[in-house]
Amino acid sequence: SRDKLQTVNPATGEPGRSYEKHTIDDAYAAAKAAHEAYLQWRRTSFSERSNVIRKAAEILRARKDEFARLMTDEMGKTFDDGRAEVEKCAFHCDWFADNAEGYLANEPVDFGGEEAFVTFNPIGVVLAVMPWNFPFWQVFRFVAPALMAGNGALLKHASNVPGCALAIEEVLHQAGVPHDLFRTLLIGSGDVEALIKEDHIAAVTLTGSVGAGRSVATAAGSVLKKCVLELGGSDAYVILEDAEVVAAAKVAATARMVNGGQSCIAGKRFIVVRSILEPFEKALVDAMRTFEMGDPRKEGTKLGPMQSVHARDDIHKQVDGSIRNGARLLLGGKIPDRPGAWYPATVLTNVLPGQPAHDEEVFGPVAAIIAAEDEKDAIRIANASEFGLGSGVLTSDLDRGRRIAAEELEAGMSFVNENVRSDPRAPFGGVKHSGYGRECSAYGIREFVNIKTVHVK
Ligand code: NDP
Repeated sequence: SRDKLQTVNPATGEPGRSYEKHTIDDAYAAAKAAHEAYLQWRRTSFSERSNVIRKAAEILRARKDEFARLMTDEMGKTFDDGRAEVEKCAFHCDWFADNAEGYLANEPVDFGGEEAFVTFNPIGVVLAVMPWNFPFWQVFRFVAPALMAGNGALLKHASNVPGCALAIEEVLHQAGVPHDLFRTLLIGSGDVEALIKEDHIAAVTLTGSVGAGRSVATAAGSVLKKCVLELGGSDAYVILEDAEVVAAAKVAATARMVNGGQSCIAGKRFIVVRSILEPFEKALVDAMRTFEMGDPRKEGTKLGPMQSVHARDDIHKQVDGSIRNGARLLLGGKIPDRPGAWYPATVLTNVLPGQPAHDEEVFGPVAAIIAAEDEKDAIRIANASEFGLGSGVLTSDLDRGRRIAAEELEAGMSFVNENVRSDPRAPFGGVKHSGYGRECSAYGIREFVNIKTVHVK
């Protein structure tokens, strides 16, 4: 019999459904079939594709509660967050259904009178390797523009969310995506390299850890295939002495607690100018305290379990290691005595180089406060990270905020007086070890196309 993927409910530790895995031969066959389907799909008009993707949005909205519950069961997301995530996927589908044609319209080139233009051809079947933290959004973020551009896609989702992976396949097929054009493959990460090298795969996109990014980029590089990488982050928020402290702390807590802290663009390091350090510490503790742990299935719950006991234990090690090296615990930091992957909202201050909370990405509900002498010092600390995904500035001087966001912070996104969010209308991605390439907007949809120059004489 075939290997299985066993799901576990993170809130209880109880096993859930198990799913039969696909073999690498199944995956090769799917790649070949997807390529055949792509050869047809690339001939369809934008309006045909839009009808399909708009229909996917409708199905998502109609089945929102069901999909939210599936996420809760497989990876512990709160029901409220799950509903919001499905709604966001639907908005994203509608956005690309409406805008793909414009994003990919031919662009004239001025060759001094002769006819020349740029056209955007699809490139084929893109393999998507996706993580569990936003099981629907991560996939739709990639797949809606990919299909609108005329490409095919295969999904290798994270091993703990096979139910979500199959639900996404069902939504797309019900919407009218040809069966072979999009397939979910329940394969392990050990099969990804071989699949990248398969001839019918044109390119690969990965959202996940730095380690997974390195493996995927290496495999793609060995066969000279394009890849887009959206990896981790250790987003810094610079809190200047002129910030309104309570409001800034609320933005910080919101940024940190996105998806229970398990987001690449969660705020992770809060770099505070020393003159407001004490009031900010107090305000951040007050704001973080409102994220009480509760049943993720219930409406109104603000903090559910983490995705797995293993991930929770890793977070606790990072917190402990930071405290042993001089950080001070202001809130949380204790594993509750109950089954499941629970960890409370936690605040550390006096976070310094050499502590995990300073040097590493902390993928859970743990806020790290780092003191800075002044603006310049705060920017230096913010940029002294291997990562460069999102970033923020909190200040009452908007000119100052705009300048720091636009010119100083080494990150793909920089928000002033607000927490960083992804949006189909704006490019999303990072620099340094946060990866390369962009998703969303015209930049995202143009990653997986052949940007072709045509000159007619
Ligand atoms: P992983 O990077 O391990 O998993 C993400 C996806 O990549 C999964 O589908 C996984 O498959 C696959 N994968 C893992 N290793 C490889 C590999 N060597 N080659 C090809 N594919 C691979 O993330 P984790 O779930 O382990 O989370 C750990 C860390 O990853 C977090 O602490 C965070 O830093 C980062 N992360 C970032 C995310 C983001 O949004 N940018 C999202 C999730 C995690 P499988 O599940 O089968 O192993």
